[in-house]
Amino acid sequence: MNEKQKLLSTLPSVDEFLKSEQGLEWVKHYPRRYVLQAIREGINIRRKNIIEGQTVDLSGETMAADIEGMLDTLSSYSLKPLINATGVVIHTNLGRSVLSERALENIRRVSESYSNLEYDIDEGRRGKRYVHVKRILREVTGAEDALVVNNNAAAVLLCLNTFAKGREVILSRGELVEIGGSFRIPDVMTASGAILREVGTTNKTHLYDYERAINEHTALIAKIHRSNFRVTGFTDEVSIEELVQLGKDRNIPVMFDLGSGSLIDMRPYGVHIEPSVQEVVKTGVDFTTFSGDKLLGGPQGGVIVGKKEHIERIQKNPITRAVRIDKLTLAGFEATLSEYIDEEEVIHRIPTLRMLFQKPDEIKKRAKTIAGRLKREIKNAVIQVIADSSRAGGGALPEMDLPTYAVGIQSDTISVNEFEERLRKGNPAIIARIKDDALILDARTIMKKDIEILVKRITEIIL
Ligand SMILES: *Cc1c(COP(=O)(O)O)cnc(C)c1O
Repeated sequence: MNEKQKLLSTLPSVDEFLKSEQGLEWVKHYPRRYVLQAIREGINIRRKNIIEGQTVDLSGETMAADIEGMLDTLSSYSLKPLINATGVVIHTNLGRSVLSERALENIRRVSESYSNLEYDIDEGRRGKRYVHVKRILREVTGAEDALVVNNNAAAVLLCLNTFAKGREVILSRGELVEIGGSFRIPDVMTASGAILREVGTTNKTHLYDYERAINEHTALIAKIHRSNFRVTGFTDEVSIEELVQLGKDRNIPVMFDLGSGSLIDMRPYGVHIEPSVQEVVKTGVDFTTFSGDKLLGGPQGGVIVGKKEHIERIQKNPITRAVRIDKLTLAGFEATLSEYIDEEEVIHRIPTLRMLFQKPDEIKKRAKTIAGRLKREIKNAVIQVIADSSRAGGGALPEMDLPTYAVGIQSDTISVNEFEERLRKGNPAIIARIKDDALILDARTIMKKDIEILVKRITEIIL
C-alpha cells in the first residue's frame, strides 16, 4: 500500500460515522437526510484532498466540526435576520423597515386564527379586504378614500393603467427617474399602457410646458418624487399646488407619486425637505401614492389615497386583484397605522422613525457601550467611538447626512477586508462598512437586543 492508500483506508465510512455517538446526536437535532449529506460531503472532501496529495486534517474532531458547520448551513433558512451596522435606516437590500411591536403582535394574532379578511361580520356575508385599513388611512392622512396594494410600484402602475391606458400622461423630464434597477418611470409608463408625454427639460420645467402639452388625448398630469437624486443649480420645477390648479382649470386629474411619503411633520426634528402626505393631500391632488415600508415604517405595501370616485375606479381595475395585499401585510399595516394616532409616541414606537430621529447623544451612548464592552475583551485592536454620518435610505432625504456615532475597529491580527467578510458570513450576519482601513459599525441602526451577540461575534473573530 502506498501512502495515499494508507490514508484513504483510515477514512471512516458514512455508516460508521452515522452510528457513532456524535452521529446519533446529530440525528436527534437535524433531519436525517441532511446528516447523511453532510457526513458524505465531509468524507468526500478528505478523500479528494488525499488523492490530490494535499495535506489533510483527518482528526475526528475537525471532521465533526466541519460536518456540524455543514449541518447548520443546510438546515438554516435562506431568509434570515441580520444585524445592520451600516447606519442606512431604510436599507432596501436589508429589508427596509423593521416592524413595530404592535405590528408584529397583530400579524401573529390575525394569522394564527381564521379572520374576517373578506367577511362582513355585521351582515353575515362576503366583505372586502380593503376595508380594514380605509378608515385609519382616512383618519391619518385626511384623504377621502384609500387603497393599499402590494407595493408602491404596483400603486403607480395601477393609477396609470386605470386613468391613462392608451392616453397621454404629462410628466416633467426632470422626473423621469429610475428607482432601484427595475423601476424606471418610462418603463412603468409603457407597461401600464399609458403614453408618456415628456415636458420641460432635465433641470427646468415651467407651468407653460404643462399647459402647452395638454390636448384631447391628455388623461393625467403626473408628478413623481425624484427620490434618490437631486437636481441642483439652475433649476425650476412646478409645485404640486400649481399643477392641482391647472388640473382643476382643465378638468384633468393630477397624481403625485411621493415614493417614501412621511406621515409625520418632520420639521420639529430639524428635517424638512419634503411635505408630509397630509400636506400633499391638502393641496387637493386627485391621488397620491407612497410606500408602506419606507418612511411610514410598516410592511411592504403601496398606498393610494385620494378622492373617493378615483379610488373606487382603481378598485374595479382587474390588475388590482393581481397586486392585492395579503392578510399578514394588512394586519401589519393596520397596526402600524394605528401608531400614528398618537403623534407624540409614534416616533418612539416605529423603529424606522426611532432610528431616524434618535438624538446624536443617544447614538453616542450606544456606540460607547459597544466600544467599552469590546475594549474589555479585546486588547490587540484599536477600538474607538468616532463621529460619522448615516443615511436615511429608501430614496428618502437622499442629500441629508444624519450626524451619527460609530465604533471604529482596527485589528492587529486580521485585515479589515477579512474582518468585514467574516462578520458578514457568520451567524447572524453583521453588515458593516469599511473606511480608512477601519471597520465601521454605525450605532444608529444597531438594535439594543443585538449588542450582546455583536460583541461576542467580534470578540470571536479578533481574539
Ligand atoms: C421607492 C419608490 C417607488 C417604488 O416603491 P416600492 O414600494 O419599492 O414598490 C416608486 N416611486 C418612487 C418615487 C419611489 O421612491
